[in-house]
Amino acid sequence: MRAVTVAPGVSDSLRLDEDWPEPAADEGAILVQAVAVGVCGTDQEIIAGEYGEAPPGQDRLVLGHESLGRVLEDPTGTLKPGDLVVGIVRHPDPVPCVNCAAGEWDMCRNGRYTEHGIKGLPGFARDRWRVQPRFAVGLDPALAPVGMLLEPTSVVAKAWDHIERIASRAVWQPQSVLVTGAGPIGLLAALLGIQRGLSVHVLDRNKTGPKPELVRSLGATYHTSTVAELDFAPDVVVECTGAPVVVLDVMSKAGTNGIVCLTGVSSGGRTIELDAGAMNRELVLENNVVFGSVNANRRHWELAAEALARADQAWLNSLITRRVPVSSYADAYTSTGSDIKVVLDFEQ
Ligand code: BGC
Repeated sequence: MRAVTVAPGVSDSLRLDEDWPEPAADEGAILVQAVAVGVCGTDQEIIAGEYGEAPPGQDRLVLGHESLGRVLEDPTGTLKPGDLVVGIVRHPDPVPCVNCAAGEWDMCRNGRYTEHGIKGLPGFARDRWRVQPRFAVGLDPALAPVGMLLEPTSVVAKAWDHIERIASRAVWQPQSVLVTGAGPIGLLAALLGIQRGLSVHVLDRNKTGPKPELVRSLGATYHTSTVAELDFAPDVVVECTGAPVVVLDVMSKAGTNGIVCLTGVSSGGRTIELDAGAMNRELVLENNVVFGSVNANRRHWELAAEALARADQAWLNSLITRRVPVSSYADAYTSTGSDIKVVLDFEQ
């Protein structure tokens, strides 16, 4: 069968293997036919040789952690043949740490977790894959065109879950949310803010292209100014750029009792001068919380599936700016600059 693979640590080793072995039985009882995988920045880092790890004893890693497939067979009866299914990315560490033991592998303490298509587990960019029932999430059939958005939605469902847990420390009547970055994560974070009835502002540097209209049609406000120029102090910030200047700016911009959730992974190597004393003073005197958030556990995947099912399907569809057949796989991993979400399509 076909599989899109890389040699982790080796830049530009991306290729399509035409005779990749069928998924091993011990990967899970549920056999799945791939429908599509989404492409994200983490895939680009893996292709550049900067991130990623092959399964033990192997030198190639199957890419793809934003999955969507249809069940071919499920002897456990959890799902039925034909059901839409998505595979959870992260698996608990083998120790397991206290968090992984409790099913909170997104909060793994020892870093020995594994991730499909990223760290030590084969990804979903192959014709068929297998999954254990506890790592399989069934999807509403209406989500067939957009179900590969479940993984990035699970990431923002976790971010919102943790924002709300932190917020429960005191009376909380949030009004405004600032989302920085109108990529897939930012737009999905904005969607979840709108679904909570909040006033959502999305800031991005793009003045043209599909982003301004996508934000407006969601019912949010689009800004292209700097963070400092905004004329309000947000109660919640979901930072999705990882750009160092934006990260620091949102920390100062958040309002009293404000909560700043950082979701963007920065590449490092850029030094910025900072008055750490002034920053500390502001955070303390305003009861601000700044926290990082990565990955998602099963509860978040289920919340994400509900959020996607409630969303406007045409809006979700318009986040997918290109659907590339597997035969042209390299195009899917080559950015055109105007893409929001590119999808590798296994059915074309
Ligand atoms: C994925 C997460 C993963 C993280 C770190 C992200 O692209 O969405 O599931 O935990 O990369 O590997």
